[in-house]
Amino acid sequence: INYVGGAGSITAAQFLQRFIINKTPWAHLDIAGMAFSKKAANLNPRGATGFGVRLLNNLIKKYYEWNMLEKTLSIIKPDAIERNLEDKIQEILVKKGLAIKEKKKVKISKEEASEFYKVHQTKSFYDELCGYLSSGPIVVMVLEGENAVLNNREIMGATDPKKAAEGTIRKLYGLSIDKNSVHGSDSIQNAQKEIQFFFKQ
Ligand code: GDP
Repeated sequence: INYVGGAGSITAAQFLQRFIINKTPWAHLDIAGMAFSKKAANLNPRGATGFGVRLLNNLIKKYYEWNMLEKTLSIIKPDAIERNLEDKIQEILVKKGLAIKEKKKVKISKEEASEFYKVHQTKSFYDELCGYLSSGPIVVMVLEGENAVLNNREIMGATDPKKAAEGTIRKLYGLSIDKNSVHGSDSIQNAQKEIQFFFKQ
């Protein structure tokens, strides 16, 4: 938003609120000659209509906080479901600051697993990996929190449970490099794709 006409800052705030409700990914608003943006959210609103500017400032702060929250996809793999570790794993994730926003238990076909793990199609273990992920029920979850992607990767630990750090899920519960109990997206971009894969709108 580069310009909101001379209707005053309250109108401008309501205008911005509409954008926030619509979840526009980016907003910049010039009001009463002052620039408010995500970067300048703490700007002293000198001279502009007090109430409107305070409201606007709070909205921008809230919007900024929302944008800081990341989402990632987590899977509790068949080996962990088989051993009834679902609740214990969820407890660890929540304790470490990740909120479970969506959750479902599914059993996917080998074709679906092949599509999900397509990035690994050139790997020698691709067929085995797809066979394994489709071998039993899994729990898929959308996790949300600050730095959710990286945070979840840390909580999971290294791919090979033998190399995983103490206290990580894979160290605690992983059986082997393939049966390593959990999956977690490795980047924000992949998280979006993987969430879309399991939770199509
Ligand atoms: P992750 O991101 O830590 O899950 O690891 P990768 O993306 O490298 O691999 C994806 C998944 O493939 C792992 O979680 C394992 O289940 C499996 N995997 C990785 N390396 C091997 C391997 O050498 N052999 C087999 N059978 N599976 C593997």
